[in-house]
Amino acid sequence: MSDTTTAVLEESVVEGLRAGLRGELIEPGNEAYDEARKVYNAMIDKRPALIVRCADVADVIAAVNFARENDLPLAIRGGGHNGAGLGICDDGLVIDLSSMKGIRVDPVDRTVRVEGGATWGAVDHATHAFGLATPSGIISTTGVGGLTLGGGLGHLTRKCGLTIDNLLSVDMVLADGQFVTASAEENDDLFWAVRGGGGNFGVVTSFLFKLHPISTIVGGPTLWELEQAPEVMRWYRDFIVDAPEYLNGFFAFLTVPPGPPFPEELHLKKMCGIVWCYTGPEEEADEVFAPVLKVGTPALHGVHSMPYPALQSAFDALYPPGMQWYWKADFITELSDEAIEQHMKYAEAPTLQSAMHLYPINGAAHRVGPNDTPWSYREATWGMVMAGVDPDPANKEVITGWARDYWEALHQHSAGGAYVNMMMEEGQERVKASYRDNYERLARIKARYDPNNLFHINQNIKPQGSER
Ligand SMILES: Cc1cc2nc3c(=O)[nH]c(=O)nc-3n(C[C@H](O)[C@H](O)[C@H](O)COP(=O)(O)OP(=O)(O)OC[C@H]3O[C@@H](n4cnc5c(N)ncnc54)[C@H](O)[C@@H]3O)c2cc1C
Repeated sequence: MSDTTTAVLEESVVEGLRAGLRGELIEPGNEAYDEARKVYNAMIDKRPALIVRCADVADVIAAVNFARENDLPLAIRGGGHNGAGLGICDDGLVIDLSSMKGIRVDPVDRTVRVEGGATWGAVDHATHAFGLATPSGIISTTGVGGLTLGGGLGHLTRKCGLTIDNLLSVDMVLADGQFVTASAEENDDLFWAVRGGGGNFGVVTSFLFKLHPISTIVGGPTLWELEQAPEVMRWYRDFIVDAPEYLNGFFAFLTVPPGPPFPEELHLKKMCGIVWCYTGPEEEADEVFAPVLKVGTPALHGVHSMPYPALQSAFDALYPPGMQWYWKADFITELSDEAIEQHMKYAEAPTLQSAMHLYPINGAAHRVGPNDTPWSYREATWGMVMAGVDPDPANKEVITGWARDYWEALHQHSAGGAYVNMMMEEGQERVKASYRDNYERLARIKARYDPNNLFHINQNIKPQGSER
C-alpha cells in the first residue's frame, strides 16, 4: 500500500474489505500487482493503493462503498484501453472488471447481455455463432465498457449507428452503492446520460445491446501511393456521404505492415488507404466497389469476403498492448481543399503504428438527434484522430510531437470538439466542447446521481453547482 494511503487506512479496514469479496484484492507488494496495474498504453504508469478484481456485482457494490467511505480516489477499469489511462489511478482504489466478462446471446430477441469487463472480441465471437453482430470499434481487444459509454465508432457506424444507438439498457452501481437498471422505461435520465457521458454516473455491471443480422461481410483495405492522397481524399469526402449505408469506409494515412497479406513491394511504405466494411448483398459487392477502383491507381484492393469478427480483429496484431500511445482528435464536418493541403504535410507518420484516421459518422448515426444522447456531434461527417503509437519509449517525444503538431495544424478546420474516447486528459474546456449544449443536462444528472463526484477519473462532468 502506498505511504499516503497507509496513513489513512488501517490494515484491519482493508482486511474487512478483503473478507467480504469473492474476487481478488491486489495491493502493492503482491506478486500480481505490477501486471494488474498495467494498462494498454505503456506511457501510463500509475500505482493504485488497492485493486479490487471484482467477481460479481456484490464485489462492485462493496468496492464502491469502500472507496466512498474511505474517501479514496476511484477508477473503473473495463478493457484498460483508454489512451489517457482513465481506467487506473494513483493511490486510490481500482474497480477492475476484467473477471466480469459473461456474455449471453438471445438469438430470438436478437439481443446480447454483456458484463462490464468484457472485450469486443469476446462479444463478436459469441454473437457471430448466431449470425448476429452489434456495432463496436475496429480493434477487438478494446473494452466494451469504455467504448460504449463514450459512444462507439466503428465498421458498422453507417449501417447501424454508434454503439450507444444500439444500447437497450444497463445495470449499474451508483455512487451510494445502490444497484439500478437504466433504460428508456426505467431511470431514463440516467439512461440518456450513460449513452456518451462515460463512466461519470456509476459502474456499469452489464450492458444489453440490440443485435443485427450481420455475419459474412466484404471488407479490407484499398491502398494508394501517398502522392495520390489529395485526389483520393477529394473523392472520398463526397462518396462516403452518399454511399449506401451498408458500406462503411474509414480513411487512413498509414504505414503498410511488413508481412502478409500485404505484397512485399508495399511493406513499410507510407500510403493512404480506405478500410472498407460492406454488409450488403454479396452478389452486389463488385458493383458497389467499382467506383473505388477508378480513383487514381490503387496499389492494392484487398477487399474480400470474410466473417465479420475477422475484420474486427484484423488490426489486433499491429496494435498489441504495451505500446506508447498519444492521440488527439476532433470532429470534422467538411474536408476542404485547404485542410487536405495541411493533411499532406503530416501524412508520413513517424512510426509503423502511427496513423491518422477519419471515421465516418453519417448514415444511421445521423438519424439520432444531437440531444437524443449526450453525443452531440451528430451532424459531423467524421471523427478524426491522429494517433502517435510506437513500442519504443525512446520514441515518445517523436510520436507525441507528430500527433500534437498535426492536430494543431488541422484543428482550425474542425467542428470544435472531439470524441471523448479519443482524447488524452485535455481539461474541462475540451470536455465541454465535446458535449456542447448537452453538458448542462449531464451536469444536472451528475449532481443527482454522484453529487460528490466519486466517479471523477474519466472525461469528467462536474456535478452542477459544484467545482469538486
Ligand atoms: C487500440 C485502440 C483502438 C480503439 N479503437 C476504437 C474504435 O474503433 N472506436 C471507438 O469508438 N473507440 C476506439 N478506441 C477508444 C476506446 O473506445 C477508448 O479508449 C475506451 O475508453 C476504451 O474502453 P476500455 O473499457 O477498454 O477502457 P478503460 O481504460 O478500462 O476505461 C476507460 C474509461 O471508461 C470507464 N469505464 C470502463 N468500463 C466501465 C464500466 N463498466 N462502467 C463504468 N465506467 C467504465 C472508465 O472509468 C474510464 O474512464 C480505441 C482505443 C484503442 C487503444
